[in-house]
Amino acid sequence: MHIDNQGSATTTGRYQIQGVDVLQIADQFGLPLYVYDADKIIEKISLLRTSFRGVNLKIKYAAKALTNLSILKLMRQQGIDVEVVSVNEGRLALLAGFEPTQIMYTPSGNAWSEIQEAIGMGLQLNVDSLPLLEQIGQTYGSQYPIALRINPSIAEGGNFKIQTGHGDSKFGIPNDYRVQIKGLIEQYNIPVVGLHIHTGSDFKDGNTFLKIADVLFDMAADYPNLRFIDFGSGFKVPYHPGDYATDLADLGAKVSSAFRAFCERYGRELELCFEPGKLLVSESGHLLVGVNVVKENPSRTFVQVDSGLNHLIRPMMYDAYHHIRNVSNPTGPERLYTVVGYICETDTFATDRSLPEVRPGDVLSFENAGAYGFSMASTYNSRVRPAEVLVYDGTPYLIRQRETFEDLLRGQVDVPVLNADVIEQTI
Ligand SMILES: *Cc1c(COP(=O)(O)O)cnc(C)c1O
Repeated sequence: MHIDNQGSATTTGRYQIQGVDVLQIADQFGLPLYVYDADKIIEKISLLRTSFRGVNLKIKYAAKALTNLSILKLMRQQGIDVEVVSVNEGRLALLAGFEPTQIMYTPSGNAWSEIQEAIGMGLQLNVDSLPLLEQIGQTYGSQYPIALRINPSIAEGGNFKIQTGHGDSKFGIPNDYRVQIKGLIEQYNIPVVGLHIHTGSDFKDGNTFLKIADVLFDMAADYPNLRFIDFGSGFKVPYHPGDYATDLADLGAKVSSAFRAFCERYGRELELCFEPGKLLVSESGHLLVGVNVVKENPSRTFVQVDSGLNHLIRPMMYDAYHHIRNVSNPTGPERLYTVVGYICETDTFATDRSLPEVRPGDVLSFENAGAYGFSMASTYNSRVRPAEVLVYDGTPYLIRQRETFEDLLRGQVDVPVLNADVIEQTI
């Protein structure tokens, strides 16, 4: 019997989510399919809460990781706030029932018209550049409270594409401009209620949060009316067996005690915010796929599945490892397989991976597919996006229909002159 932290196995070896047979979910809703386990999400939220019990903790779910409305509603029910990076994510959060004040909007170079929309909606604006700060000052003066996104010049994160806090990154206002920031704030009398740093995803070293704390606590001296300090995210989740995770208990103890000391110096108790995306939804998600073809080449055996980088781009985009389970043949003899997608471009999910014997028609599960899975999916190769299912309280619910061919046509405009017969060629 094989048990790990993702789903559970019974004595018959069947893979279950909250006691529901995964193969039965695949049967009921079809493949390929994203399946999310609500219990895993709830478990991560409570883990964060217990790790930071000594402080006034506020969790803001980073919606871009997985934006399905039902997931957002689940987050709201659990009593957490939300962090959005576009005005459309803000609209989704409003639809899910969040109050505008529960929605933190962090643009990165977004259009001024979009910023104004977000302000019109009453979202908590997080300002990421000096030009935007100046524009806010000129337009709203002391009327609209803001937070400041600071770039601390700290390089961290699992992959360069997801490092956002190093000195050369486009994100945030460089810490070096501390004097200029304060100058603009004073010139326009802009109310600053929060300071924020998000340094990237998948920190190798949890102590990076303490370095961030130093930068934020230091800068807080410039702003006496703060309500919150936001540490962004960067929580590391384990992707492969034996991989490590951010030690939340340890981090909670260290950051909380530093934060309490800071609040004492500051003279008031502030909110300590985090913006986890991956931590809350990665492990909860499984991408179930069907095996189309098992193809023996002289050098390797390919498993070709009914999905590809159009549904899960992380292996190609970030060289990410996703653990794979053979759900329909869990006890077969182990062999080495290279698991690839059906896209006309190299889309290798795993190279020479040991899996229980894979046969055409088997169902495989890509684990840790909840974060940046569906939300980064596309219709490349004119393939439709999968359906999504949420298992809540032991029941699988369809939370997004599988797309259809009609969805691919929606929005395309027919230009009549292009419908004329073949034009005769002169050469
Ligand atoms: C993407 C993002 C997050 C979430 O990062 P994870 O690594 O998924 O937890 C948090 N805050 C901001 C501003 C982001 O852009």
